[in-house]
Amino acid sequence: MILGIEGKWALVCAASKGLGKGCAQALVAEGVNVVITARGADALEATAAELRALNGGRVVAVAGDITTPEGRTAALAACPQVDILVNNAGGPPPGDFRDWERDAWIKAIDANMLTPIELIKATVDGMAARGFGRVVNITSGAVKAPIDMLGLSNGARSGLTGFVAGLARQGRLASANVTINNLLPGVFDTDRLRTTMQGVASKSGQSLDAVLDKRRATVPAARFGTAAEFGAVCAFMCSAHAGYLTGQNILLDGGAFPGAF
Ligand code: NAD
Repeated sequence: MILGIEGKWALVCAASKGLGKGCAQALVAEGVNVVITARGADALEATAAELRALNGGRVVAVAGDITTPEGRTAALAACPQVDILVNNAGGPPPGDFRDWERDAWIKAIDANMLTPIELIKATVDGMAARGFGRVVNITSGAVKAPIDMLGLSNGARSGLTGFVAGLARQGRLASANVTINNLLPGVFDTDRLRTTMQGVASKSGQSLDAVLDKRRATVPAARFGTAAEFGAVCAFMCSAHAGYLTGQNILLDGGAFPGAF
């Protein structure tokens, strides 16, 4: 299938590694020009070099923290126009809500709710004026099935999900071919997964491999997802064919969520 987005410009946030990188790779493979961001310049430049080798499109790397106003301004300034926005940032740390003071909550809400909302605000009206726009927010399967130790993520991402459900249905966006959807990862084999599972291993005295095996066994597909397959679904959601898909939460979890809907 030809996705029909060749030559568009995408801003893919937090994309030097993991799921964001998977999305950038899939878009670049379709001939999309991308601006990618991450905090660490070295890993970001290495990813940009990989992406440039994939296709003839333009790849611009902007180092910075996307959860800050400066980081967002720099990322937006590097993109001649944003036709596709993939919102992503690191997830909040796990823990017990009894230990979280206001600052911890504000940090999580800033990163995983207000940052995507600010970027959506900066881009969707331009998309509507041009008659094409795709926003994909990388959230989490924890929005559908909250995970106790990830309370900061459950809370902040649910706030974004509720907001997006309303915004995506605004007539002046939906009727202008601007779609806004969330892509919910289950368990994907990335640095984030390994860091989280290492924390569980250290606390419980098990080996990392034993913890990963147990986690894998909770997934009907009997494996972790890959960043490449996550990116492929994201690219389809950004495609010319997905103009009637808006305001949805697309769960990609190898069958782990046990419900029918
Ligand atoms: P990862 O740690 O593998 O990669 C995160 C990327 O984000 C890196 O490129 C990092 O440099 C960048 N980044 C982090 N904070 C940033 C910031 N403030 N500004 C700019 N760049 C930043 O993580 P991942 O597994 O790809 O996860 C991506 C998102 O998906 C996270 O929010 C995570 O919580 C969520 N998620 C992941 C899984 C999973 O199984 N991997 C499951 C559910 C949710």
